[in-house]
Parts: sequence; structure tokens; C-alpha cells
Amino acid sequence: MTTALWWVRRDLRLSDNQALAGALAHSDRVVPVYILDEHVLASADASEKRLAFLLDGLEHLDKDLRDRGSRLILRRGDPAEELAALTSETGAEVIFAEEAYSPYAKQRDGAVAKALPLRLTGGLTVHPPDAVRKGDGTPLTVFTPFGKAWKALPLPAVRDVLRPPERLSAVPDVDSLPIPGEPKLLSSIPFPPGEAEGQRRLQAFVDWGGGDESRCAAPIYCYDDTRNRLDVDGTSQLSAYLRFGMLSARQAVVSAISAMDAAPDAEARYSAELWLEALIWREFTLSILHYYPQVQGQGFRAELRNMPWEKDHAAFDAWTRGRTGYPLVDAAMRQLVHTGWLHNRARMVVASFLAKDLLVDWRWGEQFFMQHLVDGDLAANNAGWQRAAGVGTGAAPYLSILNPALQGEKYDPDGLFVRRWLPELARVPSRYIHQPWSMPPDLQRETGCVIGWDYPAPILDHGWARERAVEFFARAREPVEN
Ligand code: FAD
Repeated sequence: MTTALWWVRRDLRLSDNQALAGALAHSDRVVPVYILDEHVLASADASEKRLAFLLDGLEHLDKDLRDRGSRLILRRGDPAEELAALTSETGAEVIFAEEAYSPYAKQRDGAVAKALPLRLTGGLTVHPPDAVRKGDGTPLTVFTPFGKAWKALPLPAVRDVLRPPERLSAVPDVDSLPIPGEPKLLSSIPFPPGEAEGQRRLQAFVDWGGGDESRCAAPIYCYDDTRNRLDVDGTSQLSAYLRFGMLSARQAVVSAISAMDAAPDAEARYSAELWLEALIWREFTLSILHYYPQVQGQGFRAELRNMPWEKDHAAFDAWTRGRTGYPLVDAAMRQLVHTGWLHNRARMVVASFLAKDLLVDWRWGEQFFMQHLVDGDLAANNAGWQRAAGVGTGAAPYLSILNPALQGEKYDPDGLFVRRWLPELARVPSRYIHQPWSMPPDLQRETGCVIGWDYPAPILDHGWARERAVEFFARAREPVEN
């Protein structure tokens, strides 16, 4: 009997799993293993929320495996050592795993491959970074041409999505740690882990009853109208499931393409295409991290690497606690800490505020996000922060400085989002909700929102901060004379 290890990492699923399929095709017996990696657990980016989501996800995976006659082996320690031990305990000839692109993952897999027969498969992305390049073979660092090159490659179809295996072979009698019950997933985290939930959310997002039903019954068909709205659940909220591979990127992409093909009208088709673009953004950020691992810790733009960011702990603290006096920023930060998730628009606004209004080192914000986001992912988070701070890829991102009050008026016009997270503003009239400091004093008293007492005065004036940021970037871009 031949044996393969299926080393589960960011692919907590049985359907459309190329590493599992590779192991099944190669060997009579497959041993699924997850290793709690001490290096990752001790990282400054580690997050209790994400760990709880992972552990609960492992419980679901173990149950799905047991339903098919298998089980998950859990180990803890250094992956190379644990895999070496398990290989000799099970007599495995090969280890299958899904390829990952972070600097740590590459170094870890390199160390494993030196000592053991490791075979890496695709699956984290639809097109591996090596496949999406310029004609001359160099990497693409701007999203639009990346998206064009990505779409020009053969696209997956429904028939490419692998079905989950119906039965699996029994796992030999080897030791497995119990899946830790702590930290527990807080009830405030609105993401039940597991593959079944990932599938459910995907279907709820793309399935349209057809006929007379409004096209928004499938939110993908109204994504263009609602994707930026903070007061509407217009996005898929699938990021945590994609992050942990509880849903395959390929299945999501195939669903987007199928929705485009089945769209009831041109607007609906365009909306579905925009959602496909969001999935391509995900692959773009992974490609940047793959080709430019130095972005972990420093700006993509070499000329903006030595900027004198403020080390302002008081401002950073006000930002993390949702006490800046800018309602949109504060509501978003409170949502992040409470739920482990934020809408993309809200991420952009709070990141711009920290880096451009407060001029606080964007890496502080990047790390705070990693410590709280259930979907926290080095590639996507780093790219988002680099763009917001104006040091990343793309054309002159330093010119975009978001005005939190105007962003609120545009994307949360009645203040529903703000009121939900800032109860102290519940009775503030909509016309003042994003600039409560401009309320006349009588109205402040009447609505129970006295600025400086019930809710903070703005930590700084955005107009002034904007000018300061423009100068800050202009100085940083001046050629240095030696
Ligand atoms: P949808 O709008 O439904 O998009 C579908 C999927 O596409 C998402 O689930 C995600 O996997 C992917 N996607 C969409 N936009 C982006 C993007 N700009 N970059 C990369 N992938 C994208 N996303 C993460 O998954 N993890 C992070 O740690 C993360 N940090 C971010 C930090 C900042 C400062 C910013 C501006 C963005 C960050 N994003 C991150 C990207 C984006 O905000 C989230 O992916 C999105 O809000 C998740 O919600 P959703 O699943 O409803 O997205």
C-alpha cells in the first residue's frame, strides 16, 4: 500500500482541492495533517480572532474527513520536524501541499523540500504568479495590465472545479493532538467557520432565481451599485473563507464567470465582472508579494522608503480605540475590533486617515489590522496599506487623501453605519452625522452628543492635515543632495 501525506495549510476544504487530489491520484492511502507552526503562532502579526477561526475550521475539516472514513492528524511544532516524524510513522513516500507565496512560506517549504519529497500544487490562486507576466517575462506592477494579462490566460470552467471525494481511506494509528478549544470564536465574529458556510455564502451571493425577481436577489448583480456602500451588505463577505481556503479561488472565479454569462442585462453582467476583478485583485497582491518580498516591512517605492513617519503613540491609540472625532473612522475601527472584519471602503478610509492625516507609520496600522482581521492576509493587507499610505504600486497613490466626512456623506448618506457603531451619535441628525462638531451647541445638548464630552472633538483638522501630507510627500520626493 502506498501512502501520501496531504499537508493542509491554507486549504481547509475537500472540494476543488488540488493538493488533496494530487495525493489521492498518487497513493492508495492519504493522511491529512495540519501543523500548528510555532513560528506563526509567535509572530507579532498573530491574531486571537484568526486563530479561533482557524481552530474551529479545523474542527469542521476533521468532521468532514470523519464523515468519509478519514480524520485530521494535528501536530504542533516545526513543520519540517513534524513532517519528518509523520513520514516515518506512516511510511509515506510523498507529501502534497498547496503552494504559497509569502517569504516565510517559501523558506519553510524550501526547508521541507530539502529533506522530504514535497510536491507543491496550484490552488491558492487561479493563475500562479509565474503565469501572469509581461511579454518580456518581467512582473506586472500595475493592476490594470495585470488584470488584462490574467484574463487573457485560459479561464477555468465549471467542469474544472473538482468534486469532493465521497470516501477516503482510513488513517493509520498515529498520534494526533486534540484540536485546542481555546481561543474560542467570539460570538461577535459574524463568520461561522467551515467549508459548508463558504459554499453557502458563495451561493447566496451569486444565485439568482431569474424571472421577475429583482436582479439584486443575487447581490453579485448589484455589486456595482452597492460595493462601496457602508450601510448595505453589498459585498460577498467571503474574504475569511478565501483566506483559509474554505472556498477555492477557482470556484469563486468560475461562479463569477458563470454569473456574467447568465446575467439578465448589461448592468448585471458588468457588476459580476467587477466582482471577478475583486478576485483578480487578490491574485495581484499575491503576485506582488511573490516577486517583491521586500514589501514586507518597507514601501514598494524605493524613493519613499525613508520617510520620517510620526511615532505618535497618542494619535495611534485614539485611532485604534475609535476616538479620533471623525465618525466614519471611529465607527470602522470599533467594527474592526468587535467583528474582525471591515468593508473595503472603510479599510481605505481608516488607513488613509492614519497614514496621511496623522502621518503615523503605516506599518503600525498594517500590524494592528493583522492582529484583528479574521481575513488577515499578508499580501492583501500589505498591498492595501501600501496603497493607502501612498508608498505602494500604481500611479502616484500619494495624491489620494480621503476626506472622512465626505466619504461618509457619499457612502453612508444617512449615517446608518456610523450610528450602528457609535451609539453616542444615535440621535444626531443626518446632516451633521459625519461632522458632528459643526452642530450648534443647543442641538448638541438636545441630541445628547456634546462634542468634547459625549464624543471627542476632531483630533486634527482634515483640511490642515491634507496640506501637511501634501508637503510631507513633496519633501520625501525631493532629490537628496549629498
Ligand atoms: P468582496 O468585495 O466580495 O470581494 C471578493 C473577494 O475578492 C474578497 O473576499 C477578497 O478575497 C478579494 N478582494 C477584494 N478586494 C481586494 C483587494 N483590494 N485586495 C485583495 N483582495 C481583494 N483583504 C483580505 O482578504 N485580507 C486582508 O488582510 C486585507 N487587508 C486590507 C487592508 C487594507 C488597508 C485594504 C484597503 C484592503 C484590504 N483587503 C484585505 C482587501 C479588501 O478590503 C477585502 O478583501 C474585502 O473588504 C473583503 O470583503 P468581501 O469578502 O466582502 O469582498
